Amino acid sequence: MALNVNEIFFSIQGESIYAGIPCVFVRLTGCNLRCAYCDTTYARENGTSMEIRQLMKKIRGFRCMLVEITGGEPLIQEETPFLINELLKTGYKVLLETNGTIDIRMVPPECIKIVDIKCPSSNEKDKIDLNNIKHLGMNDQIKFVIQNREDYLYAKNIFKTSCKHIEGGNILFSPVTGKLPPSDLAGWILNDRLDVRFHLQLHKIIWPEVRRGV
Ligand code: SF4
Repeated sequence: MALNVNEIFFSIQGESIYAGIPCVFVRLTGCNLRCAYCDTTYARENGTSMEIRQLMKKIRGFRCMLVEITGGEPLIQEETPFLINELLKTGYKVLLETNGTIDIRMVPPECIKIVDIKCPSSNEKDKIDLNNIKHLGMNDQIKFVIQNREDYLYAKNIFKTSCKHIEGGNILFSPVTGKLPPSDLAGWILNDRLDVRFHLQLHKIIWPEVRRGV
């Protein structure tokens, strides 16, 4: 059983409520979206086929028990849940970053899902399966990437209408780097007294010039 892998690296977790914690990243190749602000376009193609046992060996070599599976969109490869299961069985804490288009019920519940809800400026909002929100568990997270006021109002509306069962600290509002001043987004959240987590992509602050493998 094999997966098409774009890159594997060890870094500081830059997104999610685990931001700041060392983590092994497995970036899988391929994506079913074309978001306007995508910062990992290189992950849409050019992977290497790796057997799950090879991947497990490579991950073990980093000596770190937190692993994030990301992409691209990891759930377009049907073997991804098998890798997640292997990692969980071996005692890893596993995060899965997914773009919100695919039913997350195929993912083992012990895996922590970080589900993107695409806003209008992505040009992909209509492809999102909003039913995923009701399948999120208490440790899962939602991420809104926000480029302008229209995105913010869209995210705020979904937060108010569909996210009552989710702890506010697990709902991330993140500005698009270089497009929306973080202070604008922080101000809107404070002004509206929104119980969400303001969030910056930490890896882009630590390594602003580096484009991949961080
Ligand atoms: S879902 Fe993620 S990887 Fe795919 S196009 Fe959008 S930002 Fe890029």
